[in-house]
Amino acid sequence: MPVLTEVLNLKMYINGDWVQAEDGKVNDIINPANGELIAKAPTGGLSETRQAIGAARRTFDSGEWSELPTVERAQYLRAIADKLDEKAEEIALLETLDQGKPLNESEIDVADAAACFRYYAGMITQPDGQTFHVADPMQAMVVREPVGVCALIVPWNFPLLMSVWKIAPALAAGNTIVFKPSEVTPVSAMKLFEILEEVGLPKGVANMVLGPGRVVGNELAESDLVDKVSFTGGTETGRNIMKAAAGNIKKISLELGGKSPNIVFADADIETAIDCTLIGIFFNQGEVCSAGSRLLLEESIHDEFIERLVERAQKIVVGQGKDRETEMGPLVSKQHLEKVLSYIEIGKQEGARLVCGGNRITENGFDKGYFVEPTIFVDTNPDMRIVQEEIFGPVLVVQKFKTEAEAIELANGTAFGLAAGVFTQDGAKGLRVIKKMRAGITWVNNYGPTYNEAPWGGYKQSGIGRGLGTFGLDEFMEVKQININLNVEPVGWYKN
Ligand code: NDP
Repeated sequence: MPVLTEVLNLKMYINGDWVQAEDGKVNDIINPANGELIAKAPTGGLSETRQAIGAARRTFDSGEWSELPTVERAQYLRAIADKLDEKAEEIALLETLDQGKPLNESEIDVADAAACFRYYAGMITQPDGQTFHVADPMQAMVVREPVGVCALIVPWNFPLLMSVWKIAPALAAGNTIVFKPSEVTPVSAMKLFEILEEVGLPKGVANMVLGPGRVVGNELAESDLVDKVSFTGGTETGRNIMKAAAGNIKKISLELGGKSPNIVFADADIETAIDCTLIGIFFNQGEVCSAGSRLLLEESIHDEFIERLVERAQKIVVGQGKDRETEMGPLVSKQHLEKVLSYIEIGKQEGARLVCGGNRITENGFDKGYFVEPTIFVDTNPDMRIVQEEIFGPVLVVQKFKTEAEAIELANGTAFGLAAGVFTQDGAKGLRVIKKMRAGITWVNNYGPTYNEAPWGGYKQSGIGRGLGTFGLDEFMEVKQININLNVEPVGWYKN
């Protein structure tokens, strides 16, 4: 396994040029497992953001990309996928050093990213549009066109994959983009943009600005030259983006937070339910928008299930992501560590009972990293903040229910509606309960798998719109109706 021998110097990518911040400002990028400096990233501001928007606008309006035959756009996307495969080992390691996640999870992310580019390369060359019969002698049809300049803003939990979920469909559809990664995790994004340059993407098609969300992100959401903003991140930020985007009635897609229920009935296959509960909350350190962060257990199995769950959770190997035996890495940043620890304190003060973990790990050289034990709270009630608010860390809260109706009510009892899981061996019950879930992504007898083919997004305050699948492409396209008169003669509506 190669190791990082020097601190990386990241740059922004604007109109085909690699640039530093005009005022020379840089931001230190830290490995959350040991506090080591891994990269220096420019801190862009308004000027760089406006330059990037200008480049994307000019390139879009020129038609150089938007009017390129789709088969040619698809070739670029496939070339990007091939390069991701070629560089998978390097990018996966960098992702782990930057974000903290275990290496095998980063490897999956890189492979999924390549697959996502190939998926949209295939889709964009498929037959498209509609023709239909209308009452008049008219040939009526619908064609789809790119939206225009798209601002893509992503968070730090899946830095590469969240980027690609937006970049691949946006480019496939013929848009030009200004992309902003999280300030905390920009490394894999720069590797991706190096690939975009290597495959010869015309300059101005894809631009990347690094810098704080409240400056760069806000300008992207506000600018009248941007047609669409697609955002993944926290619900509060999503609310701010909606307001900022109102000026020119920008199209918006928002993939926001969650507090997703994972319901286990007494008739479930208990081993499967335990396994999936662990993945649901501890995968990626619980820094997953769709995490199964609330476990709803039927009362009759509660105590035994918790006993076995805790036993398994305590065996999860927490460590540096780059070590192959590691099963859960550190949290992404000191600031986020403090947020998660504060929620654990809140849970205790609210009277929930801690049955697993609950502490920062500092022994055995872990003191420089941001590690938290897999944590489980029981004896909760629906009014508690730890039950209602997104913690975004390895903290599971357990709720107890007696009946199917109560499970449904508890499951839907938060402001969010991103994901839900149900475990039962009664097929009809599984489907019945899932159909009652006010959530966009659901599983029966599983928790967590995602597919490029399937739409990703939420109900309620978990967002607007969908990523991935055909729906994900639709988010980056406008629909135009064309009516061609087949009987060209005066209409005669006005008499004189
Ligand atoms: P944010 O929502 O603040 O960050 C996501 C992205 O939005 C980042 O690129 C950020 O920039 C940018 N951003 C921040 N403020 C603005 C703004 N005003 N306008 C436009 N863009 C902006 O997430 P945080 O990192 O602050 O995390 C806060 C909480 O959000 C987490 O604890 C978690 O609960 C939730 N979250 C949910 C995610 C999800 O996938 N649903 C992902 C990440 C977080 P930058 O950070 O570089 O300044």
